[in-house]
Amino acid sequence: MLIYEYKVAGTTTQYAAIDEAIRVVQFIRNKCVRKWMDDHATKHDLQVYCAVLAREYSFASSLNSQARQASADRAWFAIARFYANCKEKKLGKKGYPQFQHDNRSVEYKTTGWKLSVDGKHITFTDGCGIGRLRFVGNKKQTIATFPLKQIKRVRLLKRADGYYCQLSVKAERKVEHVASGTAIGIDVGLTSFLTDSEGNMIANPRYSRKAEKKLKRLHRRLSRKKKGSQNRKKARKALAKGYLKVQRQREDFARKQANALVSSHDLIAYEHLHIRNMVRNRHLAKSIHDVGWGIFLHWLAYYGMVHAIPIIAVPPQYTSQQCSDCDTIVKKSLSMRTHMCPNCGLVMDRDHNAARNILEKALSSHRGCTGGHSETDRLAL
Ligand SMILES: [Zn+2]
Repeated sequence: MLIYEYKVAGTTTQYAAIDEAIRVVQFIRNKCVRKWMDDHATKHDLQVYCAVLAREYSFASSLNSQARQASADRAWFAIARFYANCKEKKLGKKGYPQFQHDNRSVEYKTTGWKLSVDGKHITFTDGCGIGRLRFVGNKKQTIATFPLKQIKRVRLLKRADGYYCQLSVKAERKVEHVASGTAIGIDVGLTSFLTDSEGNMIANPRYSRKAEKKLKRLHRRLSRKKKGSQNRKKARKALAKGYLKVQRQREDFARKQANALVSSHDLIAYEHLHIRNMVRNRHLAKSIHDVGWGIFLHWLAYYGMVHAIPIIAVPPQYTSQQCSDCDTIVKKSLSMRTHMCPNCGLVMDRDHNAARNILEKALSSHRGCTGGHSETDRLAL
């Protein structure tokens, strides 16, 4: 699936209609969750329930039927994740489905919308009254060149700086990978963004420091404003825009780094960390870094798939403690930046040593599994 995204332009009335459609989606989703809580409804029950809701509530019937189904799917997604967590006996919270209050998008499938011939407008044809929206900018994106049948989903979403339309196009993207004969291991740096097994470091992106300062300032400003005031509303919007900007910069940085790494190697190994636990941290700087790393891994997996090269996640045990030359365990605290082996005398940057161990682990497990890398791809995702 390729995702094309456009900002859309319309009138205030049209934006209000989008907001209303988004509210209807949330209403249906929450009603489905309620139905499941009350009568243990199945996925199929919820699909049937959509039609019931449409008969009962006129505003629900104005939303395209496939979009209604998609809203019920969202409820089921939350329920299914909860079941899966219970089945896996996951420690901690199982994620019991919650009612949603902050929905920001509505998703159409193959009906309820129409693309104009020039590919510059999209018209929503259901009862929500959104009507014809213009795609803004991105002249290079030519959605019109794809056969309509390949467009599987159309999503309207609200962001801090306006409304956007995402079109999911079913198309395979494959790149002929030019083999370089090199495999690499990478480690999350504490002081750098990453360190590889060759000892190269990628510095933390410049935006993160600046963004951190700015977000802190915006947070402070928001907390000073009186609750319910116009100024508080404004401050909240400015903060949301600030986060949006960081999110885009982060995405851009991650994508470029991942693409560069995949293009120049035949195998990439990284340490499987629990990003989610890492992000729960009071320090903004650290959390920005961790979220950035999570997004980077996502893109690494994506480009690995496009280039058809293995991206291997290895378990994190001993990667930083073990000596990458002689396997001796050399205990070190987080503050010790250098690995010094008393057995073989190896002296090396701590992250560099870890990256070498990560690569070694990946190579030994990769040798063990012949026949493609479907296994490793799944691990990576
Ligand atoms: Zn050693």
